[in-house]
Amino acid sequence: MNPLPEPGDAALLELLYAVPVGLVQFDEDGRIALINSMAAQLLLPLSDGARLDNFYALLDGLLPSLRAQALTRQSPDGMVCDGLRIEIEADPPRRPQSQILTLAIKKISQGRLVATLKDISAQVRRERQLQRNEAWSHAIHPGTRGRALGGIDERGVVVDWDGEPTTGKGLGHGRDTVIGRPLALLYADGAITEERVLDRLREADLNGWSLDEGWLQRDDGSRYWGSVLLVPLRLHGADAEADADPVPGGDPAPVARYTLVIRDISDQRASLEAHRRESACDHLTGIANRRTFFDAAELELLRWRRAPRPLSLLMIDADRFKRINDRHGHAAGDAVLRHLAVLLSLTFRQVDVAARIGGEEFAVLLPSTALGPALGVAERLRQAVADAEVAVDGLPLRYTVSIGVATMDDTIEDIGDLLKRADKALYAAKAAGRNLVMGPL
Ligand code: GH3
Ligand code: MG
Ligand code: MG
Repeated sequence: MNPLPEPGDAALLELLYAVPVGLVQFDEDGRIALINSMAAQLLLPLSDGARLDNFYALLDGLLPSLRAQALTRQSPDGMVCDGLRIEIEADPPRRPQSQILTLAIKKISQGRLVATLKDISAQVRRERQLQRNEAWSHAIHPGTRGRALGGIDERGVVVDWDGEPTTGKGLGHGRDTVIGRPLALLYADGAITEERVLDRLREADLNGWSLDEGWLQRDDGSRYWGSVLLVPLRLHGADAEADADPVPGGDPAPVARYTLVIRDISDQRASLEAHRRESACDHLTGIANRRTFFDAAELELLRWRRAPRPLSLLMIDADRFKRINDRHGHAAGDAVLRHLAVLLSLTFRQVDVAARIGGEEFAVLLPSTALGPALGVAERLRQAVADAEVAVDGLPLRYTVSIGVATMDDTIEDIGDLLKRADKALYAAKAAGRNLVMGPL
């Protein structure tokens, strides 16, 4: 983008005011020097009636770390952010629907930053509608295997169930065993947490639906790969009345707030999985790659901001790895990395995000896990590695790892901060002799 004209360049200014993109120029403190009418229109809902005079102040509620980011983090060409999505929540009757903007900020010279804003609400809504149609047809389309329709309440407990019989092609959950059970308990061990179910309910409220896939477990203990769709129900008629007027003298009957559609999609998993692996996984070890880690971490942090709850991170680095390569060859080094990746997948739950984020560096994000348990699981992993032997050319090879642990708190602004803390702890573990776990310093 070219620098904005100095105020006074009338023809250019006129053009600027006419473009269908919001443009704002402001200084390091956020003081707005120029704002075109489109930007004013887009930012007005955030101003609470006040004047549009400070850019950071306007966005403070939605992007509290923007000012710090603009001061400290710019790419070499001055970009502070690009394609950042801002969602302004609906506020009927003034704003019946939520509004979604994208924001890019570039520093063009000392004391001059320019932001562009675009309203992409219509586009996003279309996308969501398409995804939703797809999700619905995917979830409801009669497949060869079982599916079930149910209802869950606002706590995530199943209150209604219309699954097929437990035999044959059914999902293998009997009505008696399902009703009254938290949805999380239909999943296989470690595949989801109850907090994550609540997050998904909130996402369903926001987006109109929430769909994911994961390992579920039948009553007989066997597992299947299922898609789980949640759609908020609008209460009306008898249900709404029942809700308002509990049965006198008794507990109100539990009311389904969300429709639940579960499908066994084990058949499709193999082909979908191959496709997903291609882009999401690391080629050497098969576990998640760096990009997948950062995508998942962004999402976890977003969830944390909406509903703070324990969230911890481990940084794991193989000790003296260069020496392993030097002594035994690169192929032996690769075998060690693959071995470590297998130990990671054996140690962590499915909700945890374990990824290879560098050469011999791995990171694991642990939702719903406070510092204490995170240190515990890190220690278990360290011990498992120290006890293991990797066969290289028929000979046993041993290696160790050092692990740094950090946990989320409100002084942490983004995933970079959290990684830095874990990295510091990891560095301390290295300095203290390696083959160690260290927590926050
Ligand atoms: P420290 O205990 O301090 O972590 O020492 P280190 O030797 O593990 O650390 P350093 O960062 O000095 O060396 C990392 C080595 O990892 C260097 C690099 O050649 C090797 N490496 C990175 N990626 C791969 C890989 O994919 N395969 C193999 N075999 N080696 C790799
Ligand atoms: Mg190392
Ligand atoms: Mg390293």
